[in-house]
Amino acid sequence: MLRRLFTVLSAASLVLCVATCVLWAATHRTTLAVGLLEPGERWRVASYDGRVWVDNQPQVDTDRDERERLLEAFKALEWQSRARDELDERDDGRTLPQRKSAAAAAYRAARRRATSPSTRQSVRHVAVAGCASILPALWVAAAVVRRVRRGRRRASGRCLACGYDLTGNASGACPECGARVRASSPAAGSGSA
Ligand SMILES: [Zn+2]
Repeated sequence: MLRRLFTVLSAASLVLCVATCVLWAATHRTTLAVGLLEPGERWRVASYDGRVWVDNQPQVDTDRDERERLLEAFKALEWQSRARDELDERDDGRTLPQRKSAAAAAYRAARRRATSPSTRQSVRHVAVAGCASILPALWVAAAVVRRVRRGRRRASGRCLACGYDLTGNASGACPECGARVRASSPAAGSGSA
């Protein structure tokens, strides 16, 4: 069970490692950006200059556009209020001063939200690939160790599963762990004392 989990994680890690290397090669000179759009939080993942970057530039741009739009709306109303007689002017049930102060409040609120300070983080492709290769490397090392150990046990007539000495055992099963002993294995036939 634990070994299976180890294998699955190693495989996933290997995929990440290979994907990072491919990304690295593919974006050595070009830029690849993927937008992550969440309402109120827009992030971007990009790959260039040998690094993977994560930044919230889309959100910063959106907020800036919104502030500019609100400021323009406020300026337009202010222009109107200069040009017309404020007391007589009515639009959508509100007087111009009311609309103006609402527009000013909306702009101030947008500035206060002034959300999204520009955030940018990056990590080198080689660092991601390096970290992602640790688990697969350990998996290979563990597989080699298992193979060598099995070879040694087979050569010395021991149970391949637990290492129990099967000299003279003819039952076809390891008395220690119950593993089946193959008849062709030297262990089964080496009881010639
Ligand atoms: Zn055994």
